[in-house]
Amino acid sequence: MTLRRNRNAKIVATLGPASSSREMVRSLFIAGVDVFRLNFSHGSAADHRARFAMLRELETETGRSIGILADLQGPKLRVGTFADGPVQLVEGASFRLDLDPAPGNVQRAGMPHPEIFAALVPGTQLLLDDGKLRLVVEQCGPDFAQTRVLVGGKLSERKGVNVPDVVLPITALTPKDRRDLALALELGADWIALSFVQRPEDVAEARALIGDRALIVSKLEKPSAIDRLDEIVALSDGVMVARGDLGVEMPAERVPAIQKHIVGACRRLGKPVIVATQMLESMIDSPVPTRAEASDVATAIYDGADAVMLSAESASGKHPLAAVTMMNRIIEEVEGDPLYRQLINASHTMARPGGDVTEAVCCAMRRAVALLQAAAIVCYTSSGHTSLRAARERPESPVLSLTPRIETARRLALVWGVHSVHVPDVFSAEEMAEVASAVAKQQRFAQSGQFIVAIAGMPFGTPGATNLIRIATV
Ligand code: PGA
Ligand code: MN
Repeated sequence: MTLRRNRNAKIVATLGPASSSREMVRSLFIAGVDVFRLNFSHGSAADHRARFAMLRELETETGRSIGILADLQGPKLRVGTFADGPVQLVEGASFRLDLDPAPGNVQRAGMPHPEIFAALVPGTQLLLDDGKLRLVVEQCGPDFAQTRVLVGGKLSERKGVNVPDVVLPITALTPKDRRDLALALELGADWIALSFVQRPEDVAEARALIGDRALIVSKLEKPSAIDRLDEIVALSDGVMVARGDLGVEMPAERVPAIQKHIVGACRRLGKPVIVATQMLESMIDSPVPTRAEASDVATAIYDGADAVMLSAESASGKHPLAAVTMMNRIIEEVEGDPLYRQLINASHTMARPGGDVTEAVCCAMRRAVALLQAAAIVCYTSSGHTSLRAARERPESPVLSLTPRIETARRLALVWGVHSVHVPDVFSAEEMAEVASAVAKQQRFAQSGQFIVAIAGMPFGTPGATNLIRIATV
C-alpha cells in the first residue's frame, strides 16, 4: 500500500471523541488525512499517549509517514465545567463568572484566570464560544465578574472566552503549556503549535525550549501578531491562519484579506501555512457542506495554502469521515482546474538576483520540470530543507521527498506537494539517482522512460545548501 495522494494541498484533521477508535482513525487516514492534530486544550495525558501510539502503529502498518501536530492551548481563556451539561443563556439574564472551581449552572460558571478578573472593568465585553455569545461586565472584583447577557445561546463546558478590548498581561506559554509541551516532545510530536502568539519573542521563547526536537507552527489569532506578520513568519517553521479566534479578536470582514496576506507571506518565505477553522463547520451535524464552505476550502487551495484543517468536524462532529472525504474531493477538483495552475503561477514570487545557490537550483528545477513535463521531482534531504525549498516553487510535478530520517519524513507531511518516503542513506549522486528512479516507480510516480528531476545537497548527509540538480530517465 503506498497511499499516494492525488493532490498537492494537505489535510490536517483534529482527533477527538468522534475519532478516537482505531478503525475511525485508520479510515480518516486512508481517506486523506496527512497530519493529525492533537488538541492539548482537551483530553488527558493518557488520551494523548494512546493517540500517539495508535498513529505510530498505523504508520508502521501502512508504510506511510504520518505527521503529528501537538496544539498547545496557550493563554486561551476558558470557562469551566457545568454540573448538568450545557446551559442556555438568554438575552438580558445575569450571569456570573468567578474563580470557584465548582461546576457551573445557568446562573454562574467558573473561569480559572485570576489575571483576567484583575484586568476587567464595568463595561468590558466578554465574547464566549468563538464570539457566539456576548456578555457585558456590570460589576467586578478580583475573583468575580457579574455580567449581563447581550447575545445569548448555548454554552458548554471549556468554551473559549475572548476579551478584545483589554490587553491581558499573560505569557505565551502557560505552566500547563510547558507540561503539555514536555509530554508532546517525549511522545515525539513532529510539529508544536503555539496558540495566541502576540510577538516574535513568543516564538523565540518556545524555540529555546523546543530546540530542534520539533518544528514550530505559530497560530495567528491576535491582532498584535498580524502587525508583525513577516517577523513572526520568519522565526516560525510554519503558520496557522487560526480564523476561529482571529475572527473574534478582529471583525469577521477583515479575516479574508488577512488570510490572503498570511498565505502570501508564508509562500514568499517558503514556510508551510495551514488555513484553519470552520472550513466545513456545518458538517459537524450535516453529511454535506454548504456551498459557501466548499467555496471556502477551494479559495484556500487556489491561494496555494499548504494545508486545510478540520477541527470539530473531525474531532466531535457526526460525520468525521464524510468531512475528510469532502475536503479531499474539493482539493482534487480545484487542483484539476486549469485555472488553478494559472493562479498558482501568477501568485508565485520568483527568487530575486542576490539569492543563494539553493534558490538557483530550485529555479532551474521549476523550469526543467515544466519544460520536460517531468513525472516527479525527487528531493534527497536530511533536514527537509531541500523539499521545503522545492515546495516553495509550487512546481507542476509532485515532490517525491526521500530522507533517511523518519522525523523529516513525518514533518514534511504538512508541506504542499510533498510525498515523503523514508529510505536508507545514499553516498553518491549515482546511488541517489538509482534510489530515486526505483522509489518513483515503486510509489507509482513515474513509469519507465519518463523524466524525473532530482535535487540534493552534496556531500550527502551534511545539512546545508542544495547544490545539485540531476535529470534522469526512469
Ligand atoms: P483553536 O485554534 O481551535 O485551538 O482555538 C484555531 C483557531 O482559533 O482558529
Ligand atoms: Mn484559537
